[in-house]
Amino acid sequence: MVRYAKPRTVDEALGLLADGDWWILAGGTDFYPALGALPLKRDVLDINGLDELDRISATGDGVTFGARASWTRVVRASLPPAFNALKAAAREVGSVQIQNRATVAGNLCNASPAADGVPPLLALDAEVELRSAKTTRRLPLADFVLGNRETARRPDELVTAIHVPRHAVSGRSAFVKLGARRYLVISIAMAAANVEIGADGMIASARIAVGACSPVARRMPALEAALVGRPADASLLDLFDDAHFAGLTPIDDVRGTSGYRHAAAREIVGRALLAAIGANDEGEQAA
Ligand SMILES: Cc1cc2nc3c(=O)[nH]c(=O)nc-3n(C[C@H](O)[C@H](O)[C@H](O)COP(=O)(O)OP(=O)(O)OC[C@H]3O[C@@H](n4cnc5c(N)ncnc54)[C@H](O)[C@@H]3O)c2cc1C
Repeated sequence: MVRYAKPRTVDEALGLLADGDWWILAGGTDFYPALGALPLKRDVLDINGLDELDRISATGDGVTFGARASWTRVVRASLPPAFNALKAAAREVGSVQIQNRATVAGNLCNASPAADGVPPLLALDAEVELRSAKTTRRLPLADFVLGNRETARRPDELVTAIHVPRHAVSGRSAFVKLGARRYLVISIAMAAANVEIGADGMIASARIAVGACSPVARRMPALEAALVGRPADASLLDLFDDAHFAGLTPIDDVRGTSGYRHAAAREIVGRALLAAIGANDEGEQAA
């Protein structure tokens, strides 16, 4: 017989996870499509009773998103401009109804190559907090999402939070999503850019991530390094080189060819970068 549990505390949830193979249910917006019309065969651990995880908080260490924080909560939260890319992504996850239910953590745990939350969180150097009855650990997001639908979560672990460290909370950011239409669409490619501009008008730091162009969204370290120390203006685009995008391995599918995705990724990285420095009005600009 299939079991259903809706614990009220994290400790209670971790106790259940220690003893059995549970399928975790958060907003359900990936869970139910994955189930489809098939009957449930796995025990379900519904985390919607865990009020302690339904928070977004800022401390001296950075910003923490509890695992039940929905995309709507992200949109409405008062957050510095470094989070504008994440907010822009939040507004583009499905529809408002989806955003009201769906969680940021669920987006990461589902580990789709087209998950809109991953690039902005990679560009924020985000870490994923995993708790079991015995341990708590934090993994950089890049070490958490391992492949298409594959994460480093162990069966007895619950993702309890996503942390953005203090060093990533400053700066400005933007997100650009390319889909076959403007809304309610799966990404063909998306890009997030976080930059800090020094008092001298030069790029002091840059973190760029691209999604839907590889099994897991990726940072662009060669491009990031090339941008640092350069004037924060449209001339940044002249630095772009094929080698900066060599890590992308887009596939051909119904939404676009590999070649199209390559070209699109380069274009939207440029647009996100210019939006982050305030040089165009695309994406979500710094306030
Ligand atoms: C109509 C529609 C449109 C969509 N559009 C988009 C879109 O534009 N962009 C996009 O990125 N996504 C989109 N999605 C996918 C989905 O809405 C998001 O990925 C969402 O953020 C998933 O969150 P959830 O809370 O609903 O997760 P759930 O469906 O509850 O869970 C997803 C997976 O993560 C696991 N999980 C959830 N929370 C935890 C946790 N705390 N610890 C461990 N495991 C956990 C679950 O077991 C499950 O395997 C869409 C979905 C629908 C139905």
